[in-house]
Amino acid sequence: MQFKFKLAKILQPLLERLEGKLERRGNWRQAQILRLIQLNCEDPAESDIMLLALEYIRIGIKLRFYIQREVYLQAKHDILYEQLHVDPSSGNVSTWVTEMETYREERRSLLETIWNLEREMQRRMITMPDGILKRIFCAHQRRDNWYLSAWLRAECAKSGGCCGRKCGCCKKPRNNKRPDHRSHCTSACLCCEEVRGYTINIDNYENDPMITDIGVIGVDKISESYGTDWANAYILGIW
Ligand SMILES: [Zn+2]
Ligand SMILES: [Zn+2]
Ligand SMILES: [Zn+2]
Repeated sequence: MQFKFKLAKILQPLLERLEGKLERRGNWRQAQILRLIQLNCEDPAESDIMLLALEYIRIGIKLRFYIQREVYLQAKHDILYEQLHVDPSSGNVSTWVTEMETYREERRSLLETIWNLEREMQRRMITMPDGILKRIFCAHQRRDNWYLSAWLRAECAKSGGCCGRKCGCCKKPRNNKRPDHRSHCTSACLCCEEVRGYTINIDNYENDPMITDIGVIGVDKISESYGTDWANAYILGIW
Protein backbone atom coordinates (compact mmCIF):
# COMPACT_ATOMS: atom_id res chain seq x y z
CA MET A 1 0.00 0.00 0.00
CA GLN A 2 1.38 3.40 -0.99
CA PHE A 3 2.27 5.85 1.81
CA LYS A 4 -0.50 8.35 0.91
CA PHE A 5 -3.14 5.61 1.03
CA LYS A 6 -1.84 4.47 4.44
CA LEU A 7 -1.81 8.03 5.75
CA ALA A 8 -5.36 8.66 4.47
CA LYS A 9 -6.53 5.53 6.31
CA ILE A 10 -4.87 6.56 9.57
CA LEU A 11 -6.29 10.10 9.41
CA GLN A 12 -9.74 9.00 8.25
CA PRO A 13 -11.59 9.09 11.66
CA LEU A 14 -10.14 12.52 12.38
CA LEU A 15 -11.07 13.90 8.96
CA GLU A 16 -14.54 12.44 9.22
CA ARG A 17 -15.06 14.34 12.48
CA LEU A 18 -13.82 17.50 10.79
CA GLU A 19 -16.32 16.99 7.95
CA GLY A 20 -19.15 16.81 10.50
CA LYS A 21 -17.90 19.92 12.28
CA LEU A 22 -17.75 21.89 9.01
CA GLU A 23 -21.27 20.81 8.08
CA ARG A 24 -22.69 21.72 11.48
CA ARG A 25 -21.18 25.21 11.09
CA GLY A 26 -22.91 25.59 7.74
CA ASN A 27 -19.76 25.05 5.65
CA TRP A 28 -21.25 22.26 3.56
CA ARG A 29 -19.13 22.98 0.48
CA GLN A 30 -15.86 22.95 2.44
CA ALA A 31 -16.85 19.63 4.03
CA GLN A 32 -17.50 18.20 0.57
CA ILE A 33 -14.15 19.50 -0.75
CA LEU A 34 -12.42 17.88 2.23
CA ARG A 35 -14.09 14.59 1.28
CA LEU A 36 -12.99 15.05 -2.32
CA ILE A 37 -9.36 15.53 -1.23
CA GLN A 38 -9.60 12.31 0.77
CA LEU A 39 -11.07 10.52 -2.23
CA ASN A 40 -7.98 11.44 -4.24
CA CYS A 41 -5.81 9.87 -1.52
CA GLU A 42 -7.87 6.68 -1.37
CA ASP A 43 -6.65 3.39 -2.70
CA PRO A 44 -8.38 3.08 -6.12
CA ALA A 45 -9.14 -0.56 -5.30
CA GLU A 46 -11.45 0.68 -2.54
CA SER A 47 -13.30 3.27 -4.60
CA ASP A 48 -15.17 1.05 -7.04
CA ILE A 49 -18.49 1.97 -5.43
CA MET A 50 -18.80 4.61 -8.16
CA LEU A 51 -20.66 1.96 -10.17
CA LEU A 52 -23.00 1.30 -7.25
CA ALA A 53 -23.74 5.04 -7.02
CA LEU A 54 -24.43 5.07 -10.76
CA GLU A 55 -26.91 2.21 -10.38
CA TYR A 56 -28.62 4.00 -7.49
CA ILE A 57 -28.99 7.16 -9.60
CA ARG A 58 -30.39 5.12 -12.49
CA ILE A 59 -33.07 3.60 -10.28
CA GLY A 60 -33.97 7.15 -9.22
CA ILE A 61 -34.33 8.11 -12.89
CA LYS A 62 -36.60 5.12 -13.54
CA LEU A 63 -38.69 6.04 -10.53
CA ARG A 64 -39.00 9.60 -11.82
CA PHE A 65 -40.37 8.32 -15.13
CA TYR A 66 -42.85 5.85 -13.62
CA ILE A 67 -44.19 8.26 -10.98
CA GLN A 68 -44.88 10.84 -13.71
CA ARG A 69 -46.35 8.13 -15.92
CA GLU A 70 -48.71 7.15 -13.11
CA VAL A 71 -50.07 10.72 -12.98
CA TYR A 72 -50.21 10.81 -16.78
CA LEU A 73 -52.30 7.64 -17.03
CA GLN A 74 -54.71 8.82 -14.35
CA ALA A 75 -55.19 12.16 -16.15
CA LYS A 76 -55.78 10.46 -19.53
CA HIS A 77 -58.27 8.10 -17.89
CA ASP A 78 -60.11 10.99 -16.23
CA ILE A 79 -60.42 12.93 -19.50
CA LEU A 80 -62.17 9.95 -21.11
CA TYR A 81 -64.33 9.43 -18.02
CA GLU A 82 -65.51 13.03 -18.30
CA GLN A 83 -66.20 12.64 -22.04
CA LEU A 84 -68.21 9.52 -21.34
CA HIS A 85 -70.44 11.35 -18.88
CA VAL A 86 -70.86 14.43 -21.06
CA ASP A 87 -71.72 12.41 -24.16
CA PRO A 88 -72.84 8.87 -23.17
CA SER A 89 -74.53 8.24 -26.53
CA SER A 90 -71.42 9.01 -28.62
CA GLY A 91 -70.38 6.45 -31.23
CA ASN A 92 -66.92 6.42 -29.56
CA VAL A 93 -68.14 5.03 -26.24
CA SER A 94 -66.79 1.50 -26.70
CA THR A 95 -63.37 2.88 -27.79
CA TRP A 96 -63.29 5.17 -24.76
CA VAL A 97 -64.23 2.32 -22.40
CA THR A 98 -61.49 0.09 -23.84
CA GLU A 99 -58.91 2.89 -23.58
CA MET A 100 -59.95 3.64 -20.02
CA GLU A 101 -59.50 0.00 -19.10
CA THR A 102 -56.03 0.01 -20.73
CA TYR A 103 -55.03 3.08 -18.68
CA ARG A 104 -56.40 1.50 -15.49
CA GLU A 105 -54.52 -1.75 -16.14
CA GLU A 106 -51.19 -0.06 -16.78
CA ARG A 107 -51.64 2.18 -13.78
CA ARG A 108 -52.34 -0.83 -11.56
CA SER A 109 -49.15 -2.52 -12.72
CA LEU A 110 -47.20 0.70 -12.09
CA LEU A 111 -48.15 0.63 -8.41
CA GLU A 112 -46.06 -2.52 -8.06
CA THR A 113 -43.25 -1.22 -10.29
CA ILE A 114 -42.97 1.98 -8.22
CA TRP A 115 -43.12 0.13 -4.92
CA ASN A 116 -40.36 -2.25 -6.05
CA LEU A 117 -38.15 0.57 -7.31
CA GLU A 118 -38.49 2.43 -4.01
CA ARG A 119 -37.48 -0.71 -2.09
CA GLU A 120 -34.63 -1.31 -4.53
CA MET A 121 -33.25 2.20 -3.87
CA GLN A 122 -33.43 1.54 -0.16
CA ARG A 123 -31.59 -1.79 -0.55
CA ARG A 124 -28.90 -0.26 -2.78
CA MET A 125 -28.19 2.42 -0.19
CA ILE A 126 -28.03 -0.09 2.67
CA THR A 127 -25.68 -2.39 0.78
CA MET A 128 -23.40 0.36 -0.56
CA PRO A 129 -20.10 -0.11 1.32
CA ASP A 130 -19.15 2.64 3.74
CA GLY A 131 -16.31 4.82 2.55
CA ILE A 132 -15.43 8.26 1.35
CA LEU A 133 -17.39 8.06 -1.90
CA LYS A 134 -20.52 7.01 -0.04
CA ARG A 135 -20.05 9.94 2.35
CA ILE A 136 -19.69 12.33 -0.62
CA PHE A 137 -22.73 10.88 -2.35
CA CYS A 138 -24.98 10.82 0.73
CA ALA A 139 -23.94 14.32 1.84
CA HIS A 140 -25.07 15.62 -1.55
CA GLN A 141 -28.24 13.57 -1.94
CA ARG A 142 -29.62 14.36 1.50
CA ARG A 143 -29.54 18.10 0.81
CA ASP A 144 -32.95 19.63 0.14
CA ASN A 145 -33.37 20.55 -3.51
CA TRP A 146 -30.01 19.14 -4.63
CA TYR A 147 -31.73 18.17 -7.88
CA LEU A 148 -32.59 21.83 -8.57
CA SER A 149 -28.97 22.78 -9.29
CA ALA A 150 -28.41 25.17 -12.20
CA TRP A 151 -26.92 22.36 -14.31
CA LEU A 152 -29.83 19.94 -13.79
CA ARG A 153 -32.36 22.72 -14.40
CA ALA A 154 -30.56 23.59 -17.63
CA GLU A 155 -30.59 19.91 -18.66
CA CYS A 156 -34.34 19.81 -18.02
CA ALA A 157 -34.89 23.01 -20.03
CA LYS A 158 -32.75 21.69 -22.93
CA SER A 159 -34.87 18.54 -23.10
CA GLY A 160 -38.04 20.64 -23.44
CA GLY A 161 -38.90 20.37 -19.74
CA CYS A 162 -40.70 22.78 -17.44
CA CYS A 163 -37.45 24.32 -16.08
CA GLY A 164 -37.37 26.24 -19.37
CA ARG A 165 -40.65 27.90 -18.43
CA LYS A 166 -42.15 29.64 -15.40
CA CYS A 167 -44.70 26.96 -14.41
CA GLY A 168 -42.53 25.51 -11.61
CA CYS A 169 -43.68 21.89 -12.11
CA CYS A 170 -40.26 20.48 -11.16
CA LYS A 171 -40.36 22.20 -7.77
CA LYS A 172 -43.72 20.73 -6.74
CA PRO A 173 -44.76 17.14 -5.96
CA ARG A 174 -45.85 15.44 -9.17
CA ASN A 175 -48.51 13.45 -7.41
CA ASN A 176 -50.45 14.37 -4.26
CA LYS A 177 -50.28 10.75 -3.17
CA ARG A 178 -46.46 10.92 -3.30
CA PRO A 179 -45.68 14.27 -1.64
CA ASP A 180 -41.98 13.46 -1.12
CA HIS A 181 -41.32 12.92 -4.77
CA ARG A 182 -40.29 15.92 -6.87
CA SER A 183 -38.43 15.61 -10.14
CA HIS A 184 -37.52 17.05 -13.52
CA CYS A 185 -39.74 16.39 -16.51
CA THR A 186 -40.01 13.26 -18.57
CA SER A 187 -42.18 12.72 -21.63
CA ALA A 188 -44.99 11.83 -19.21
CA CYS A 189 -45.16 15.40 -17.86
CA LEU A 190 -48.61 16.66 -18.80
CA CYS A 191 -47.55 20.30 -18.70
CA CYS A 192 -44.73 19.61 -21.19
CA GLU A 193 -47.14 17.65 -23.40
CA GLU A 194 -49.51 20.60 -23.52
CA VAL A 195 -46.71 22.98 -24.53
CA ARG A 196 -45.26 20.48 -27.04
CA GLY A 197 -48.67 19.92 -28.60
CA TYR A 198 -48.32 16.18 -29.14
CA THR A 199 -47.93 12.94 -27.21
CA ILE A 200 -44.70 10.96 -27.04
CA ASN A 201 -45.97 7.41 -27.12
CA ILE A 202 -43.64 5.37 -24.95
CA ASP A 203 -44.13 3.28 -21.85
CA ASN A 204 -40.49 2.54 -21.07
CA TYR A 205 -38.10 5.06 -19.55
CA GLU A 206 -35.19 3.81 -21.67
CA ASN A 207 -36.90 5.13 -24.80
CA ASP A 208 -37.76 8.50 -23.31
CA PRO A 209 -36.10 11.23 -25.41
CA MET A 210 -36.41 13.67 -22.50
CA ILE A 211 -34.27 11.54 -20.19
CA THR A 212 -30.48 11.47 -20.34
CA ASP A 213 -29.41 8.29 -18.56
CA ILE A 214 -25.68 7.83 -19.06
CA GLY A 215 -26.10 4.17 -18.11
CA VAL A 216 -28.31 3.74 -21.19
CA ILE A 217 -26.11 5.88 -23.47
CA GLY A 218 -22.94 4.18 -22.18
CA VAL A 219 -20.46 5.82 -19.80
CA ASP A 220 -17.68 5.36 -22.39
CA LYS A 221 -19.72 7.17 -25.07
CA ILE A 222 -20.29 10.49 -23.31
CA SER A 223 -17.71 13.28 -23.46
CA GLU A 224 -15.39 13.78 -20.51
CA SER A 225 -16.70 17.30 -19.87
CA TYR A 226 -20.32 16.10 -19.80
CA GLY A 227 -19.36 13.19 -17.52
CA THR A 228 -17.63 15.58 -15.10
CA ASP A 229 -20.65 17.90 -14.94
CA TRP A 230 -22.95 14.90 -14.57
CA ALA A 231 -20.89 13.48 -11.68
CA ASN A 232 -20.91 16.88 -9.97
CA ALA A 233 -24.67 17.24 -10.44
CA TYR A 234 -25.56 13.81 -9.02
CA ILE A 235 -22.67 12.89 -6.71
CA LEU A 236 -20.54 15.84 -5.60
CA GLY A 237 -22.56 19.06 -5.83
CA ILE A 238 -19.80 21.60 -5.28
CA TRP A 239 -20.26 23.77 -8.37
ZN1 LIG B 1 -44.80 22.75 -16.16
ZN1 LIG C 1 -37.15 20.63 -14.52
ZN1 LIG D 1 -42.78 19.35 -17.70
